[in-house]
Amino acid sequence: MNIHEYQAKALLKGYGAPVAEGVAILKAEEAEAAAKSLPGPLYVVKSQIHAGGRGKGKFKELGPDAKGGVRLAFSIEEAKAHAKEMLGNTLVTAQTGEAGKQVNRLYIEDGADIARELYCSLLVDRSVGRVAFVVSTEGGMDIEAVAHDTPEKIQTIAIDPEAGVTAADIAAISKALELDGAAAEDAKSLFPLLYKAFNEKDMALLEINPLIVMKNGHLRVLDAKMSFDGNALFRHDDVKALRDETEEDAKEIEASKWDLAYVALDGNIGCMVNGAGLAMATMDIIKLYGKEPANFCDVGGGAGKEKVAAAFKIITADPKVEGILVNIFGGIMRCDVIAEGVVAAVQEVGLKVPLVVRLEGTNVELGKKILNESGLAITAADDLDDAAKKIVAAIEA
Ligand code: GDP
Ligand code: MG
Repeated sequence: MNIHEYQAKALLKGYGAPVAEGVAILKAEEAEAAAKSLPGPLYVVKSQIHAGGRGKGKFKELGPDAKGGVRLAFSIEEAKAHAKEMLGNTLVTAQTGEAGKQVNRLYIEDGADIARELYCSLLVDRSVGRVAFVVSTEGGMDIEAVAHDTPEKIQTIAIDPEAGVTAADIAAISKALELDGAAAEDAKSLFPLLYKAFNEKDMALLEINPLIVMKNGHLRVLDAKMSFDGNALFRHDDVKALRDETEEDAKEIEASKWDLAYVALDGNIGCMVNGAGLAMATMDIIKLYGKEPANFCDVGGGAGKEKVAAAFKIITADPKVEGILVNIFGGIMRCDVIAEGVVAAVQEVGLKVPLVVRLEGTNVELGKKILNESGLAITAADDLDDAAKKIVAAIEA
């Protein structure tokens, strides 16, 4: 689960991180009071969407010459003008896709005088089984290019969970970021508190890009992207309360209500599979035959007819879906339950695209019988390869 920058900064502030004062607003009329409450004279007006690259992003409605989704304002009047122009418009960034995201909220922040822009993130480094700091002196808006062109400028420092962030770790991170003076002093509290926040809140990613050294020599968290481990949300009601469903895929929200493992993707073959491994294999084989999956969907082992029907409805509701591949290996899951779920869903919402079903395992004969007797236009497949070929052929026909 992701949250907005202003929420992430408030959370970090609670741990003692140096962040600017700021006010989130939903209406342009609120901009003046927001800016007046800040020290000034520099203000930053920041689009709050769940995507990065806002600074370089472009508003669809404003044309290519208009300023981006993060704007400096040198007066309260200018902050007001930016807010009026930005709110309600659609920001397209490298991370939003072409459709962009509507900006419904702005964060008006006290501006900083920047001396250096650094990169600092925390993530779970699975190769070493530890939380690691990933840092670079080349922070700012082009970290993807740095990672691609000059990966040696990015350093990873993994933290021993028994010891926590030690003085040696702080020294290593500070050295990698070339910190000295007041910034090196600030680092002694900042890096341990980031690590503490990351662990206590079960984050999956905390990305601060940029972490800045200000002209006065001190560090400040200038941007913050925070994602949480969905499997740990049950023990963080405070984090759950930060959820902004308007930023999430409607299909994924519906799927989460049914406890389905569902991820929307860009292709046009909808998939319904049981088991994450089989789901991955199914997506791979669709790609092998030259098409792209529209989603990852694992209905799990213990799904009943209603859950299967819900999954099928979510898949068919996606306008991009031109064909559906159901691929079930009945182990704990029974093939007849899948068949009943599919038939129930189709009877309710209809079927406008080709459907290929491959069933194998427990109660397979009964499952096939239910599908055959349903009178639905279903193409049966014998194995995974056959199924993938058939659905690709069906949508090309
Ligand atoms: P992103 O483009 O979505 O990553 O948004 P950021 O919050 O990282 O802001 C983009 C860029 O705006 C930063 O890299 C800075 O160069 C600039 N910026 C943001 N806040 C300030 C500020 O307080 N002062 C100055 N001078 N520049 C800022
Ligand atoms: Mg940024």
